[in-house]
Amino acid sequence: MEDTILTIRGLKKTYGGPSYALKGVDISFKRGEFVVIIGPSGAGKSTLVRCINRMVDPSEGEIIFDGIHMENLKGKALRQRRADIGMIFQHYNLVGRVNVIKNILYGRLGKMHAAASLLGLFKREDRLEAFELIKKVGLDAEMYKRADSLSGGQMQRVGICRAILQHPTLLLADEPIASLDPASAGIVMGEIRAAADEKKLTCIVNLHQVEYAKRYADRIIGIKDGLVVFDGTKADLTTEILSHIYQGKEDQMGDTSGQANNNPAETGELLYA
Ligand code: ADP
Repeated sequence: MEDTILTIRGLKKTYGGPSYALKGVDISFKRGEFVVIIGPSGAGKSTLVRCINRMVDPSEGEIIFDGIHMENLKGKALRQRRADIGMIFQHYNLVGRVNVIKNILYGRLGKMHAAASLLGLFKREDRLEAFELIKKVGLDAEMYKRADSLSGGQMQRVGICRAILQHPTLLLADEPIASLDPASAGIVMGEIRAAADEKKLTCIVNLHQVEYAKRYADRIIGIKDGLVVFDGTKADLTTEILSHIYQGKEDQMGDTSGQANNNPAETGELLYA
């Protein structure tokens, strides 16, 4: 089996002006890796993750996912590739007036026949799996509530279930805990990691808080001004390197000890044990 699932070469992105959000990024990701991308706001983390599933169109460079070039795909071919890439968003992207279970089932839409998806005719096995996922994240009591009646942490757990029900091979998360309080942030990161481990997914998560990167990542990539300036483990991530990555924006690093939320009961790990 090919060990590399995703290769990014010479990736550049400009949103139209003379400046580049990404200035030439080269990275490869191994199958099953849990990678956290850190860096201050404006570094290019979100642009990088969104280029992978083509929510943002790259200006230059190559993105090869499971052997297929993503950068030139259009229409149906793009939709098919995207169906294999789950996405978790900072602001959850749920349909507020729709209940929790339906929001999770929407994860299947990309893999259903057009008529069935138009009518919302979800298969029994999909419904059963959605129920299982919802139980795992402890939201059974909320199943029939409108998504917009939930707390932020609960909404993000629904977002995780929706992404997992999609049966992706690659899971992307763009600042999944940036809008959450520390307790919910720990639970949500724990659940993302636990789900990725259980399903053997490759996972790429953008975060600006260093302590969560240190706690959850196998590999950490540091981005600064549109370039990769660090690629290694938490042991390699020295104070000097962190100061370089966050130069002038040190307040965004958070606690860098890597000790935050070490209690598994608070991190969601037990939910998937
Ligand atoms: P991060 O996720 O690290 O905060 P972003 O990828 O959001 O960084 O932003 C990188 C740079 O691209 C920033 O200078 C930002 O202002 C710019 N940028 C991001 N999205 C857009 C957009 N839709 N239009 C114009 N500029 C953008």
